[in-house]
Amino acid sequence: MTEMESDQSRVRAQLMETQQRLQDVLASTAMFVWSASATGKMLYCSDSVVKVFGLSAQAMMDEPLAWVPLVHPDDMAMVRSMASQETTGRTAELNYRIMGPQGHYRDIHSFVRIRRDEQQRVQSFDGVTIDVSDRAEAERALREKRDLYDGLLGLVPDAVVVHRHGRILYTNLGTLALFGIADDVSPVGRSILDFIHSDHRRMVRNYYRSVASRKEDTGEVLAREFIATRADGREFHAETLSRAVLFQGETAVISVIKDVSERKHAEMELRHMAYHDALTGLPNRRHFAESLKALTQASSTVRGEVGLLLIDMDRFKNLNDTYGHPFGDHALRQMVTRLRAALPAGCTLYRIGGDEFAVLCETGSSAQAIAERLLEPFTVPLVLDDVEFFTSPSIGVALFPVHGDDGDLLLKHADLAMYEAKGLGGNRCVVFRSEREAQLERRLQLEVELRRALERQEFRLCVQPKLDLCTRHVAAVEALVRWQHADGRVTLPSEFIGVMEDTDMIVELGEWVLHEACAMARAWQERGYAPLIISVNVSPRQFQLRNMHAVIASVLASSGLEPQWLAIEITEGLLIHNSTEIARTLMQIRELGVSVAIDDFGTGYSSLRYLQLFNPNILKIDQSFVAEMLTKPSYLTIVKAIINLAHNLGMIVVAEGVETVAQAKALRKHGCEYGQGYLFGEPMPGEDFLHAFLEPSPASLSPAAGRPTRVSTDG
Ligand code: C2E
Ligand code: MG
Ligand code: MG
Repeated sequence: MTEMESDQSRVRAQLMETQQRLQDVLASTAMFVWSASATGKMLYCSDSVVKVFGLSAQAMMDEPLAWVPLVHPDDMAMVRSMASQETTGRTAELNYRIMGPQGHYRDIHSFVRIRRDEQQRVQSFDGVTIDVSDRAEAERALREKRDLYDGLLGLVPDAVVVHRHGRILYTNLGTLALFGIADDVSPVGRSILDFIHSDHRRMVRNYYRSVASRKEDTGEVLAREFIATRADGREFHAETLSRAVLFQGETAVISVIKDVSERKHAEMELRHMAYHDALTGLPNRRHFAESLKALTQASSTVRGEVGLLLIDMDRFKNLNDTYGHPFGDHALRQMVTRLRAALPAGCTLYRIGGDEFAVLCETGSSAQAIAERLLEPFTVPLVLDDVEFFTSPSIGVALFPVHGDDGDLLLKHADLAMYEAKGLGGNRCVVFRSEREAQLERRLQLEVELRRALERQEFRLCVQPKLDLCTRHVAAVEALVRWQHADGRVTLPSEFIGVMEDTDMIVELGEWVLHEACAMARAWQERGYAPLIISVNVSPRQFQLRNMHAVIASVLASSGLEPQWLAIEITEGLLIHNSTEIARTLMQIRELGVSVAIDDFGTGYSSLRYLQLFNPNILKIDQSFVAEMLTKPSYLTIVKAIINLAHNLGMIVVAEGVETVAQAKALRKHGCEYGQGYLFGEPMPGEDFLHAFLEPSPASLSPAAGRPTRVSTDG
């Protein structure tokens, strides 16, 4: 083989290889290459024609116009005119439809090169034909979709805005209408925040940012309400729904915005109606309950005190009953006007019932002063239809958190205070006091009053007789103190002895009682009555603070009473403190010739050792045993045991609180010497006692003078 021959065969081989490659590429696509004569006879056609026309290459070449019947009738003219096209130097393109192998039309695109001779007569055609049905289908669908969207967005009255980083990229017609933008000014490119009220811009910007941060494909929609501003400056309540979308290849936000002003107003109206009283326009009970809750909850963490005033109008019911409800309604409005005018800032007035109002003050400390100010405007009568009438508020005040650390408790306590104000006659304010506060206050008050009572000498002595249960003669009397107030009220010692002991006033009172009792007994003797023992109660505190031996000795001396007519009554409580000291004092007192009685025996802690140590000569059985001795066998046992014990220690026994004949008889039967109690006589002033129990003394000293009267215990 010559060198030239070998070159030629190499080129041929390369050519064939290239051709084969081309064939392969064509065979795998819906595209074929062809050549045809001027008359349309197919000269060449690549095998892939079968994929496009459903005809084999051979068939195409054998039957030159085999493909023509496949062309869509409407496109036929266009295909025919192909040859007449003026396409010098360039490729003609045509789109037409042919009936595909699957029995429906397919979109075909052909590139055709037309060869002509010098006279411009067509010589041949070369072409590439492609089945573009899939792409055409996609484009058509896209176009339809776009048409659909455009149509839809043009129809909706709401604004639809696509924006990115706040810049408007697209708007529909509704946007122009909603925001009052002129048709010829496109909002595209402007900031969406231009259409949002300045107060809400920050909030809305954050909202859009949050929307944009979502993935577009999640389809998550976020809603928000804000105040929008129209181009002419008018504002409206807007509601928007937004989601992230892909727009021009990048994430953007699509928002639908609508005017919800009407709904908002209706809602506000409804809310107002639900939370306000129709008659006075004041916030109502429901409003009050919620505010109270909010204030007391907030207060526990951030705020200070809260003051709650509950107001009830005095005599309002009368007004309604007398003049009728329409009149009452007018009156209520006038009252509200007055209350409102008297309230400072920071306080809210609520109508929580017919004639009940409440005030919440954000500062608790001034609540009482505010309540007092509310009384002021009612000193002037209300005038309605020529009727003049007075009404006044009764106000209860409770402070949060001191008087209740939750709303319910606070309300309850303000209510209690309000009722107290009513109970005191109305037209006043009362601040709630806790039980402890009230007690403390009562006690302090009592202390002050007792000091004044001592100064004013408001104490009196009563005496109660003690009878010999066998002879039924009065053998002795017990002096019992009474507090006789200037207004005639009498207070019993159980209510004030405790306070006097705590404040040491008992020393002064006790010494007065002692002196008074001795002086009285001495005076009776001087008036000719037979001498009686008078016993005086001495408090343990007096022993602690005074040398009682010296006190008694001095009182006896100053009153002139002989010691055998005096007895002191001490309680068991005395015996446990500093017993040796007390024992010595008691011994000295006994040595003076004064009797010592143990009072209320059986209720304290006395031990027999103390009894022996202090050597009293009288033992008084506490009234609680006597009261039950005939109903509870165990009590009778105790009474008998006490009597025996006392007798064994050489003491005489007095039973306290004898109220029935049966008790007196039983006591006598068991050996009790004396009895004291209502059966024989209640504590009474000395003069009454003389009249009731002792025979009047004659002016002269007759032998019968002052003989004790015998009291019948036989029923
Ligand atoms: P007490 O010394 O045990 O006095 C007896 C109390 O029992 C008196 O009450 C008397 O009125 C009451 N009483 C008498 N008979 C009956 C009865 O049949 N049934 C009932 N249920 N009660 C009866 P009062 O006068 O209220 O005195 C109460 C207590 O006050 C006295 O109890 C005494 O401990 C104390 N007290 C009274 N006066 C003085 C005083 O001047 N100084 C001191 N330190 N205490 C006094
Ligand atoms: Mg007594
Ligand atoms: Mg007693």
